[in-house]
Amino acid sequence: MIKRFLVFAVSYSIMSSTVLASDSLNVISKKVGFGFSPNNNRNINSVIVHSTFNNSGGDKYDIDLVIKQFSNYGVSAHYVIGREGKIYQLVDEKDNSYHAGKSSLPDGTTNVNSCSIGIEIMTSYTESPTPAQNQALVSLIQAIQKRYPIKYVLRHSDIAPVRKTDPWNFDWEAFKTQLENKRN
Ligand SMILES: [Zn+2]
Repeated sequence: MIKRFLVFAVSYSIMSSTVLASDSLNVISKKVGFGFSPNNNRNINSVIVHSTFNNSGGDKYDIDLVIKQFSNYGVSAHYVIGREGKIYQLVDEKDNSYHAGKSSLPDGTTNVNSCSIGIEIMTSYTESPTPAQNQALVSLIQAIQKRYPIKYVLRHSDIAPVRKTDPWNFDWEAFKTQLENKRN
C-alpha cells in the first residue's frame, strides 16, 4: 500500500514539473477556501481583467491584505498580479471563481463566472498598471489561450458597464495590440 502510494506520488510530481516547465510562468500559490465553487466540468472560453487594491487600511498592494478583503466580501479571482509582476493563484482554473458578479458576455451568456478566468491587477483609482504587471498579464493570458479555446478577453467594465469601471487607468487598446503581437 505504501509502495503504491509512493509510485503515485513520484509520477504525480513528474507530471506537475512537466506542466510547470512547458508553462515557464512563475505562479505563486495563494489558494483560498472561499469565493469559489468547485467545478469539474466547465467550458472556459473567456478571460476577464479586473483591478483591485486593499482599501481597508495598511499597504494597499499587500497580497495578503487584498486576499483578506476578498474574504470579507466572499469574492475571489483565479489570479492576482502584484505591482512587481508577481502572479498569485487563488483559485484553480477548473473552479468557478466569484469575480464577475451580475454581468453578461457579448454572446448573451450571463453566468460569466462559470465560463471565465478572472485576473485582478493590483492598481488604485489613481495609479496605472506597472510595465511588469502589463508583461505578466500578457504572458498569463497567452498561457491561458494555449490551454483553452478563448473567445473573449474583456474588461470587467465591458461585461458589467453600469456597475463596474475596472480595470482603472489601463490603456486597453495598447494592451490588446501587445497581446495580439506577441502571440506565437
Ligand atoms: Zn472587477
